[in-house]
Amino acid sequence: MDVSVKNIRKEFDRYPALNDVSLDIRSGELIALLGPSGSGKTTLLRLIAGLEQPTLGSIHFGAEDASHKTVQERHVGFVFQHYALFRHMTVADNIAFGLTVRPRAERPPKAEIRRRVGELLDMVQLSGLEKRYPNQLSGGQRQRVALARAMAIEPKVLLLDEPFGALDAKVRKELRRWLREFHDRTGHTTVFVTHDQEEALELADRVVVMSQGKIEQVGSSDDVYDRPNSPFVFSFIGDSASLPVRVEEGCIRFQGAPVGIAPRGGDAGEGAGTLFFRPQDVTLVTDAGTPALEGRIATSRRLAGTRIADIDIGRPGEPHHVEIEIPLDAQAANGATLRFRPTRWKLFADEAAS
Ligand code: ADP
Ligand code: MG
Repeated sequence: MDVSVKNIRKEFDRYPALNDVSLDIRSGELIALLGPSGSGKTTLLRLIAGLEQPTLGSIHFGAEDASHKTVQERHVGFVFQHYALFRHMTVADNIAFGLTVRPRAERPPKAEIRRRVGELLDMVQLSGLEKRYPNQLSGGQRQRVALARAMAIEPKVLLLDEPFGALDAKVRKELRRWLREFHDRTGHTTVFVTHDQEEALELADRVVVMSQGKIEQVGSSDDVYDRPNSPFVFSFIGDSASLPVRVEEGCIRFQGAPVGIAPRGGDAGEGAGTLFFRPQDVTLVTDAGTPALEGRIATSRRLAGTRIADIDIGRPGEPHHVEIEIPLDAQAANGATLRFRPTRWKLFADEAAS
């Protein structure tokens, strides 16, 4: 089922939790809503579900305007962060719940419900555990029961709000892989919310990066990591360093020192901007004649195959700080001077460019 969110604004007490949000979700897609806490992810998910009404804008399921349909009419399945399984019900009864509470006319016969529960147990790889109670299951198993319960009503769209948030790191990773496989097997249109970029990048067909009630970027994992389209996305996803620069006659300068050539027709024109790069996208410059950034190693630490150096950079009175990756065999004594040059970077014009 295609889902289309059109120009949604959602206010709570006049405060916009979402502001002019539009998003087209394609049938069968696995979409991640990624953003810091408070960016509006849950609100967007609840609007798609029909648990909230938009202040402005509309939501379409396929060709139909679903804006005024109820949760039941939208046929969505949900899983929340704090899996709310019914503690006094067995696994099987939990999964069957959405079917047994249907109006009598729409309720499948008992045998049919039992058959479907069996199928779902199979699908979430919990066959044999149908008689157990939630407190006899591990966290990961409980979360899979919650997924099976959401699937029982044969939803058109599956909505997951930080479904693995309450689990420990190892189980999260397992469930992440499992969800991807599950999605590929069942082909449901799925929207899941996470504040964990690793989870979003690993799992999703497309990632929707949100900040302060707005969508910053929609794209594949490669798009949002390799081609971030805003300072927010660049610094939110992956490690990054940034420096205030000025572009003068096409030359990017940090405190007067040339750093590189501004791309023609790039986002930034002449004037003040911010240069972003990843710690791994730098090269050390040993030739004293070659223009380079120069800084002092404040500290450095070894990671598995590399070394990360904290560099104090900038003139006295205008200090800046960047983290860069340097080869393990590089001289990395604290206090030593280091010259380096970003090999890949992106320049953004400052909002109020002078
Ligand atoms: P996220 O899921 O990204 O953490 P939310 O969608 O929960 O963000 O919240 C977005 C903003 O809307 C936050 O500032 C939050 O405080 C506000 N908000 C969410 N739900 C309500 C509500 N029911 N009443 C008032 N404010 C709300
Ligand atoms: Mg939330």
